[in-house]
Amino acid sequence: MAVLAERDVIAVQQPTRPRGSAPRPTATFIGSSLARSPAFGSLHPLAIPRVAAVMDLCAVLGWLGEADFRESPEADLDMLARFHDRAYVAALHHAEAVHEVDSVVRERYHLGNFENPLFPGVFRKAATAVGGSILAAELALEGQLTFHPAGGTHHGRRDRASGFCYFNDPVFAILTLLDRGVERVAYVDLDAHHCDGVQDAFRQDPRVATMSIHERGRWPGTGAADDRGGGRSVNLPVPPQLNDDEFDFLLHEALIPAVDRFRPGAIVVTCGTDALAGDPLAGMALSNLALWDAVESLCRLAPVRVVLGGGGYNPWTLARCWTGLWGRLRGCEPPPALPAEASAILSALRCDLVDDEDVRPEWLTTLADTPNHGSIRQEVRSLARGVVAPSPGSGAEVRFR
Ligand SMILES: [Zn+2]
Repeated sequence: MAVLAERDVIAVQQPTRPRGSAPRPTATFIGSSLARSPAFGSLHPLAIPRVAAVMDLCAVLGWLGEADFRESPEADLDMLARFHDRAYVAALHHAEAVHEVDSVVRERYHLGNFENPLFPGVFRKAATAVGGSILAAELALEGQLTFHPAGGTHHGRRDRASGFCYFNDPVFAILTLLDRGVERVAYVDLDAHHCDGVQDAFRQDPRVATMSIHERGRWPGTGAADDRGGGRSVNLPVPPQLNDDEFDFLLHEALIPAVDRFRPGAIVVTCGTDALAGDPLAGMALSNLALWDAVESLCRLAPVRVVLGGGGYNPWTLARCWTGLWGRLRGCEPPPALPAEASAILSALRCDLVDDEDVRPEWLTTLADTPNHGSIRQEVRSLARGVVAPSPGSGAEVRFR
């Protein structure tokens, strides 16, 4: 705790330390062999190569040696009950064993439908995502900058599945940090969809501030600009086709000041890739450079840092983004052109939701996108002006702009 307190003070005094001016902490990639198992059946948006492609690309680039990697453990039933309803946990466990659910369970827990299908290993995969996020938080408390791309299931509810999410691993990362003595945790969600499950989980907890930038009008329809959660949430619902300059504006004019004001002892960032141009389930237009820069900037705001994955339904933009992000987090700039072995991994990806003619040639040969510059629309400026920063301690709110 003494170490934590000391780091907290450093973070408060130097919240915007320029990149490269302090020793870079060691980074750890948390993954699992389960990433190679088929999941979600054949017709689901998540039935695409995701973390396995990232791990393969990182390995080819020399960025994922034994020292970089930790295998994600599986959370057991008692660990899962730290947040989830025991009856729901038991229902998913049983459904995995018998490969089916009856209509009562389907209705009550939203399991076994198109959105949250049953597939072999469904419980194990979800419980391993939770175990990975708990480990990510534990290692972050030891000074590691942790990246757990299979995490980020931000829609999961205490007593039901929701939005392709069976459990809610970001909640467990945050709870682990709180349980180990961190006084305030900032949760920042860059996925194209609102983090309704995480926001609601901590609605009554003044130790956590959730902040989200997401596309307006997308499922689940929550996270309006005036939605303050329990009083500490910041929500930035952005218009379609959000460009890099608009995203950067909101990051620096709204999100970073809000995080700073909260003075977190730890930060958890969910970096879904569905905000990137070319995602079939969202309409934002970011380059991966914008997300990399944002995660790096956010990780400078607290001494304890956890980076999770999230959504992302275009396997090419997802694999390039999370591979490049991991490179950045461990101090390696993406090469201008990929070696043939890496291009072969990207060329082998397939996705029913992306037409062949829409697969851009550069998605097969590079990691970094071309920046998507553009003008900053008035409604984006208005969003930043409307942000009310969460204040630590009392739960009181302070308008800073
Ligand atoms: Zn999403």
